[in-house]
Amino acid sequence: MNKAKELEKIKREVANLRTSLLYEYRKKNDYLHVMGEGSCDAKIVFVGEAPGKNEAEQGSPFCGASGRVLDKLLSVAGISRSDVYITNIVKDRPPENRDPSSEEIELYAPFLDREINIIKPAIIVTLGRFSAEYLMKKYGLIDSLAPMREIHGHSIRVKTEYGNAYLVPMYHPAASLYSKTTKEKAEKDIKILSNLLHKLS
Ligand code: URA
Repeated sequence: MNKAKELEKIKREVANLRTSLLYEYRKKNDYLHVMGEGSCDAKIVFVGEAPGKNEAEQGSPFCGASGRVLDKLLSVAGISRSDVYITNIVKDRPPENRDPSSEEIELYAPFLDREINIIKPAIIVTLGRFSAEYLMKKYGLIDSLAPMREIHGHSIRVKTEYGNAYLVPMYHPAASLYSKTTKEKAEKDIKILSNLLHKLS
């Protein structure tokens, strides 16, 4: 099966994920599940936490206010959105934008794992603490887990199921909407990311 077909298969499985409590909420509100989007051969995969209202209405990740911040960061780094893959751990909107629960993360994370293993990116960028925590634990970095102010912008070598890669924790784009300092830090981090990308290509 080619990469696009494998990703489509995951999308169908998520669409029918009736065991999720968020499934009921999705149906009741006429929302859509939100799978990752972008290039199947992306060198960078960005992982957010969960779709917001705009994303659930359009079925697309990072298409609201946070998405505009992410687009701006990508343009600062000269990276095109169509060259990367953007996804979330949780693929359905949690009610009232609350944080995803650990049960929801546990239920949806295997879909994220499969997306990453299909795409095999050289760099995995976590956006915010939920994806940083999940992926750092998954890749055996539990001892390096620390508040975002300490780990953002670091390029951490990780051993994945498909080989070595770099994990780069970044602030969630929404954080830049409320803090100028965080916005400046995010702009520095994206430049680090762009340098890493050039070094690897
Ligand atoms: N926040 C996220 O973490 N993901 C989205 O897709 C949108 C907002």
